[in-house]
Amino acid sequence: MPYDKDNIFARIVRGEIPCHKVYEDTDTLAFMDIMPQAEGHTLVVPKAAGEDIFTTPPDSVAAAIRTAQKVARAIKKAFSPPGVMVAQLNGPAAGQSVFHLHFHVIPRYTGKDLGIHAADPADPAALAAHAARIRAAL
Ligand code: AMP
Repeated sequence: MPYDKDNIFARIVRGEIPCHKVYEDTDTLAFMDIMPQAEGHTLVVPKAAGEDIFTTPPDSVAAAIRTAQKVARAIKKAFSPPGVMVAQLNGPAAGQSVFHLHFHVIPRYTGKDLGIHAADPADPAALAAHAARIRAAL
């Protein structure tokens, strides 16, 4: 499937649609997942076009994982979860639903199952509050 330059994350990167921003630098952007699988679920995208791990330029993947590490550290500080999961899906068979490479950074709690993927929209006020907590911990 060719890269769709108007996919939702490309539009967020271009500032055409809003997001709850956590972090931004020259090459990457991090923002709250609007259907979080746990409180604090954050997405990290490279700004460069690329559908998945196979087609995104290696430098962009590297920039995104560096930002994912920053965000994971901030989530650990902000929410004190015992675990933090970093996940990246490639292709519908793997569960990918937005075709612009991204890393999920998700707090995990002992004995607590992950929420359902891309299913339950969160309260925008809660997302804004969570983004502020993570930004303050960066
Ligand atoms: P994936 O299935 O790995 O491609 O993940 C896509 C993620 O993007 C899901 O977890 C969705 O909840 C999330 N998502 C979809 N639309 C938006 C949006 N406009 N802003 C933030 N997150 C989104």
